[in-house]
Amino acid sequence: MKPILIAGGGIGGIATALCLRARGVPYELFEQADVFREVGAGIQLSANVMRILMKLGLGGPLAAIGVMPKGLEVRSWQSGERILWTPLGYEAERHFGAPYYHAHRAEILAALVDLLGGANVHMASKVARVDQDGHGTSLTLEDGTTHEGAMVVGADGIHSIIRDQLFGKSTPRFSGNVAWRGTMPAEAIEGLKLDYLSSNWWGPERSLVHYFISAGRTHNWIGVGRSTAPSRESWSATGSVDEALAEYAGWHPQVLAVIRATTKLFRMALYDREPLATWHKGRIVLLGDAAHAMLPYHAQGAAQSIEDAYVLAACIDEARDAPEKAIGRYEHLRKGRAEWVQRFSREAEELFNMSDPAKVARRDSRLRENQSKYPSGFPEGQQRIYGYDADAALARAPA
Ligand SMILES: Cc1cc2nc3c(=O)[nH]c(=O)nc-3n(C[C@H](O)[C@H](O)[C@H](O)COP(=O)(O)OP(=O)(O)OC[C@H]3O[C@@H](n4cnc5c(N)ncnc54)[C@H](O)[C@@H]3O)c2cc1C
Repeated sequence: MKPILIAGGGIGGIATALCLRARGVPYELFEQADVFREVGAGIQLSANVMRILMKLGLGGPLAAIGVMPKGLEVRSWQSGERILWTPLGYEAERHFGAPYYHAHRAEILAALVDLLGGANVHMASKVARVDQDGHGTSLTLEDGTTHEGAMVVGADGIHSIIRDQLFGKSTPRFSGNVAWRGTMPAEAIEGLKLDYLSSNWWGPERSLVHYFISAGRTHNWIGVGRSTAPSRESWSATGSVDEALAEYAGWHPQVLAVIRATTKLFRMALYDREPLATWHKGRIVLLGDAAHAMLPYHAQGAAQSIEDAYVLAACIDEARDAPEKAIGRYEHLRKGRAEWVQRFSREAEELFNMSDPAKVARRDSRLRENQSKYPSGFPEGQQRIYGYDADAALARAPA
């Protein structure tokens, strides 16, 4: 079998390579950067994605670098009242059959890269174009070299050139909101005596979540909301603590103390994409943010790209001589789910960032009522996101 050509070595592309290798399917991965790099801070790894990462053998490494939060709390921005509580930790592990971790983005990438090793990986290899004919596909790099394969997987992120090449150039949608992402050594906030929780603070116009990462050595916060100051869609754009404090003026002392202790702070504009009519043309197919870039309100972008990777590898393995059939099955299995999460994340925008105080009060009352509505402690949306089992989905739509 000719190799599967993977364009892009972010979390989605690397996961695709790992899932293909686990099934003995040949691949070649092309990443434009000279070294694998993840800038930024914490990321949430929910049960749906941990179930897959454990199958790849990453359960141990991720347990060593992650933090298992005991629960998720939603607190009111000013009074600090806890208005919603969802168990996580061992209770979530029992319920969903896989753990939930908070971890550092760079450490997750390092764990994936360690497992992958260097074979069949081409760094400093920017893909310039992809082509196909009745027999296969080819991928041409910026330096003019060409590689041939059975199919191309476009895992080249929100600004995917493969998406543009297949469906015409389009620009991502600016949501009007920005994300602040800050970290600090755990000792810097020792005085707050924080527990291992996902602490979410919801206010008017913005929200903030903070939690421990890096096996408890580092504390991390992400604040999302409206901002009038200009900002760039860049993982490495920095921000100042004073600007962040000004945007969170009047918030609970715990929130302000966390922001004040920040030693590294980034600020990026948030973009997503409209769903596509299809994710593929012939033997060229999209995956991860290239297919369904979403807002981070449900912390699912990377998780969905890993779900994509697992399902795509299974579809390819189970139809080795019929790439177009494999791609059709992959899209059938994944498009509905990933685009539901994409829509669900966009719908959450208003919930998290509403500014009218009366609306905020109504939202908070609804949350208090919800607490008693779900006897398992897990609201419907969470059940649907965390409960996904890729193998069960594959079994329901056999090759
Ligand atoms: C503030 C924020 C918080 C988030 N929190 C979470 C979270 O808690 N949990 C979660 O699951 N998700 C989260 N996400 C989403 C997550 O970061 C993304 O969805 C995920 O990184 C997408 O992975 P990807 O591999 O599809 O794309 P990317 O990570 O963008 O990777 C694309 C790769 O392709 C390479 N590339 C691009 N063009 C080319 C080319 N022409 N040739 C070769 N290589 C190329 C790039 O260099 C890059 O390495 C968050 C996002 C934001 C903005």
